[in-house]
Amino acid sequence: MQLYKTQQLKVYNSLTSTKELFEPINEGHVGMYVCGPTVYSNVHLGNCRTFMSFDMIFRYLRHLGYKVRYVRNITDAGHLEDDADDGEDKIAKKARLEQIEPMEVVQRYTVDFHNILQKFNFLPPSIEPTATGHIIEQIEIIKDILDKGYAYEINGSVYFDVKKFNEDYEYGKLSGRKLEDMISNTRELAAQDEKKNAQDFALWKKAEPQHIMRWPSPWGDGFPGWHLECTAMSTKYLGENFDIHGGGMDLKFPHHECEIAQAEACNGHSPVKYWLHANMLTLNGKKMAKSTGNNILPDEIFTGNNNILRKAFSPSVVRFFMMQAHYTSILDLSNEALLASEKGYQRLMEAIAGLGNLKPGVTSDFDVKEWRQRCYNAMNDDFNTPILIASLFEGVKHINLIKEGKEQLTEEDKHILTQTMNSFVFDVLGLENITDAGKDSEKLSGVVELLIQLRNEARTNKDFSTSDKIRDQLAALGIQLKDSKEGTTFSVS
Ligand SMILES: [Zn+2]
Repeated sequence: MQLYKTQQLKVYNSLTSTKELFEPINEGHVGMYVCGPTVYSNVHLGNCRTFMSFDMIFRYLRHLGYKVRYVRNITDAGHLEDDADDGEDKIAKKARLEQIEPMEVVQRYTVDFHNILQKFNFLPPSIEPTATGHIIEQIEIIKDILDKGYAYEINGSVYFDVKKFNEDYEYGKLSGRKLEDMISNTRELAAQDEKKNAQDFALWKKAEPQHIMRWPSPWGDGFPGWHLECTAMSTKYLGENFDIHGGGMDLKFPHHECEIAQAEACNGHSPVKYWLHANMLTLNGKKMAKSTGNNILPDEIFTGNNNILRKAFSPSVVRFFMMQAHYTSILDLSNEALLASEKGYQRLMEAIAGLGNLKPGVTSDFDVKEWRQRCYNAMNDDFNTPILIASLFEGVKHINLIKEGKEQLTEEDKHILTQTMNSFVFDVLGLENITDAGKDSEKLSGVVELLIQLRNEARTNKDFSTSDKIRDQLAALGIQLKDSKEGTTFSVS
C-alpha cells in the first residue's frame, strides 16, 4: 500500500491562508508547477532556497508514493527590468551589455543554474520548459482572452483588462488586495501610457525596432508578457486544473495574481488547488542585494572565496542549514549559523555511518515505531523540516546510547531505525553523505587558522620575512589569504 494512504499530509495554502488536508485532484498523482529562474545572471542563493524547498516537497511527495509531474520553467524572454510592463528585457539588456546573443546569455546562465542545483543535490524536474519554446501557446491564450473580452489591443500591444475581469471574477484574492484600494493608491497614468488602467498588465508587447527578442504575432512583431508564460506552460503540461503551484513569496503579487487572472479569464475557473510560497533568505540579518554588497553566490560559499564568511562550507552543509528552517519562515545565513549546521550535519552523518555496526539486543529500550511516526507527523504538518530534524537527532541520541551499551534495540527495530534514518536524511531532505570530506575540510581550516595566527604574531613582531613566507607558501598550495579590517580570511582554489 502506498504511504500516502496512511499519512495525512496537510499543506499551508496561501490562497485560503489555512492549512488544508492535501487531496490531489487525481488520486495518486500530483501536478506541481514552480516558477523557475530568469536566466540573465548567476543563480541567487535566495532563489536556491526557494527551489530547494520545492525539491524537498517534490521528494516527500514521491516518498509518500505519489506519481509527481513536476514542471519548473526557465524564463528566457519577457521578464522586464521593473517586473512589470516597463524597462528593458533582462536578458536582452545583458546581451547588449556583453555584446553577445540573447541566447548565449540564456545558455550561460541556464548551465550555471543547473550546475549549482546539481551541487546541492537537487532532483531534476519532470519537465523544464522555456518561455521562448512556447510562444505559439502564449499567442493562443492571448487570442482566447481577447475573445472572452478581458483584454484589449492597442498600438500592437495587448493588455489584460483587470477592471473588466474584476466585474466577473475577483482580482487580488491570492495576495489579499482589493482592486478598488489598488486603484485609489495609484497615481494617474502618464499621458504616454497606453493602458486603460495602471493595474492592467501586458499579455503581448510590441517590439520597438531596437528590441532584439521578437516574434511575429497577429498584432505585429513583439514578445509575450512575463506572467503569460507560466499560464501557458502550466496549462499545457498539467492541465487547466492542477494541484500545487509554488514559488517565492515575492512572486505572489503581481506575478501569481496575474497567472490566476489569465487562467480564469480563459477557462472560467481557478487553475490551482494549493498555492505554496517559500520565504526569503537574509544574510547577516539584512536583505541580500547586489547593490549593497550584502550578497553571496553559492559557489563563493563552496570555495570560501568571499569576504563574508570565515571559511568554505560544502553544499550539503548549506542544504542542511536551509532544511533547519521551515520553508515559510525567513531564514538568516551567517557564519555562526553555518558553523552550527556543519557540526550538526557531521553528528548526523557519523550516527548514520555507525548504524551498521550496532549489535542487536533481545529487547528494545526505545519505541522506534512511535519515533518513526513522529518523523512523518513533522513532514505531514506542511513539510516541517526543523521538527523532522529535531526528531532525527532524537534518533541520533539513541544510536549513540546503543553504541555506548546503555540501550539496546532488537534486530527488527534496528532495521526500522536504519531505514527511517536513510529515507528521511537522504531521500527526503536530499543530503549527501560526505562526512570524510567534511572532516578533511574542518582539519584544513584548523591548520590554516593556526597559520594565520602565527603570521599575525610574526607581523606584530615585525618579522615580515616569516609572515610573507607563510602567505606565499600557502598561495603556492592554492590557499589565498585575504586581509581586511575584520581580520584575515582564506579561500581555497
Ligand atoms: Zn511564474
